[in-house]
Amino acid sequence: MMGDTVFGKIVRKEIPAEILHESDRVMAFKDVNPQAPTHVLIIPKEEIPKASDIDGKKHAELLGEMFDVANAVAKERGVDESGYRLVFNVGPQGGQEVYHLHMHLLGGRQMRWPPG
Ligand code: AMP
Repeated sequence: MMGDTVFGKIVRKEIPAEILHESDRVMAFKDVNPQAPTHVLIIPKEEIPKASDIDGKKHAELLGEMFDVANAVAKERGVDESGYRLVFNVGPQGGQEVYHLHMHLLGGRQMRWPPG
């Protein structure tokens, strides 16, 4: 099946996830292998493999909703004041493992720069 990634299975409720937000277009759920006290993934339900497949005009509303959800999650998890990190890994050298677009929201500890 096209775009049959683990996140596609979560969208279709074929496998479980700790879902924090769900709308017609966007889902947010906890990362199963958290790299920070707060580690949430925000994904479109639409199967866009990676950030470089985004068309700014076509996906503007979808991306806007993903950022609205990220902002809401940051508030709900209590990291909005302290700060946090939003990350898109893109392709092999970007460290992308799941080819269904996702934004990482990492918070609850001091982030370092440069990233690994
Ligand atoms: P990336 O390396 O940017 O593609 O990130 C993929 C992320 O998905 C990793 O942080 C994984 O821990 C996470 N992940 C993989 N499978 C699951 C799952 N079933 N539920 C939640 N998160 C997952």
